[in-house]
Amino acid sequence: MKVLIIGAGPSGLMCACKASENNNVVIIEKNEKAGKKIYITGKGRCNVTNNCSTNEFINNVVTNAKFLYSSINHFTCQDTMDFFEKQGVSLVTERGNRVFPYTYHASDITRALVNYCLRNNVDIHYFEKVLSIEKCDLGYSVITNKSRYEVDKVVVATGGKSYPNTGSTGDGYEFAKKLSIDVISQIPALVPLLISDLIPKSLYNFTFKNVCLSVFNKNGKLVKSEFGELTIMKNSLAGPISLTISSVINKMDYRDLYLELDLKPALSEEKLKARIEKDIVDLKDKSNSDAYILVRGLVPKGMIELILKRINVDSNLAIKKFSEKNISDLIHLLKHFKFNYIGLDSFEKAIVTSGGINVKEINPQTMEVNKHPGLYFVGEVLDVDAFTGGFNMQIALSSGYSAGLALCNLKNHGNK
Ligand SMILES: Cc1cc2nc3c(=O)[nH]c(=O)nc-3n(C[C@H](O)[C@H](O)[C@H](O)COP(=O)(O)OP(=O)(O)OC[C@H]3O[C@@H](n4cnc5c(N)ncnc54)[C@H](O)[C@@H]3O)c2cc1C
Repeated sequence: MKVLIIGAGPSGLMCACKASENNNVVIIEKNEKAGKKIYITGKGRCNVTNNCSTNEFINNVVTNAKFLYSSINHFTCQDTMDFFEKQGVSLVTERGNRVFPYTYHASDITRALVNYCLRNNVDIHYFEKVLSIEKCDLGYSVITNKSRYEVDKVVVATGGKSYPNTGSTGDGYEFAKKLSIDVISQIPALVPLLISDLIPKSLYNFTFKNVCLSVFNKNGKLVKSEFGELTIMKNSLAGPISLTISSVINKMDYRDLYLELDLKPALSEEKLKARIEKDIVDLKDKSNSDAYILVRGLVPKGMIELILKRINVDSNLAIKKFSEKNISDLIHLLKHFKFNYIGLDSFEKAIVTSGGINVKEINPQTMEVNKHPGLYFVGEVLDVDAFTGGFNMQIALSSGYSAGLALCNLKNHGNK
């Protein structure tokens, strides 16, 4: 049987690895090489999966987790690790069970997938862009900028819309719409949170370790809290905890939400008060002690002016004039530093896309479109997305494998 796969990202490549055991497989990739996005995953190191159970994997899927039950069971996180180890890619598990190639080279992951495909005689056409998919007598006709292919089965593995310069420009959604397949509108996920607060230049790109970012709704109800690393940019909050929060709130109206940063999550307000009062006593004995010096002991240098401005205290205020009110304002600010959230950053900065092919259109066992037998969608083009930790790569690999498996089984059952 002739299978055409659109896209040589992790989902398309894994689908080809499996499908080629029993079929003639062609991959059409518009870029000059395979897995352009893989090269930038995990800051070039590729967090390829998470060393966790199936249930833990499901708990880390934000959108349509249940849909992925079958495919994660077809190809588990352990299967991913076994697959790459068998291809000679040694792996290492880090904090949070994140799995990376031992060499920390994302290219090892791509190479292993491509070499497997080549050994199975998969024909990969680079620099060729699919323009549309049409139904024909044989199955499907795939029109590219170079040719027209008539094939039995087509797998769409075109990815989402994030980091479009890697080739993921949302083409799969257009193919789907033309075939009357329902597509859920797309929004950025795992993306920086835009803020309107004026951030001093000295804080741009500053990373806070061990802070707690919380998001609340208008009624003051906690929506989500995350502890860890946060990076302040000129007009956004980035870093792992901001990205995680973005995936929880990206479907909510930003006007109903506000953000609070706890700069001292390890200290209760009482303990923080005791610490500040002790600092004040110690500083009173020293000459020229002022509010600036007090706050310098509590926050990074670049943030001192911002803190003093928010509590309305002059940086030169003598420490002995620092009032009870100043102390309680300072404590409150350190525990509840508010940011004015004004929405999500763009797809250009989003790690993944939320939205895509409505999973109700897809058979979760096989990734085949219910109303178009022989047409499959795999990977990020589907309306599925997960938190950071290797889960998004795993979604791509598991869904790609499921479609590949289905394509192998079809031939076994003599069932075109
Ligand atoms: C900066 C960054 C870091 C990330 N880090 C991690 C990480 O460490 N761990 C993790 O789990 N996830 C990570 N992700 C997410 C992960 O990379 C994606 O979820 C995953 O690559 C999706 O795989 P895919 O095969 O579905 O799509 P993609 O990887 O997007 O591949 C789609 C392919 O299809 C091709 N294509 C598209 N349209 C056409 C067309 N019309 N014709 C021909 N070819 C076409 C594209 O060129 C591309 O090669 C990261 C993402 C980014 C942006």
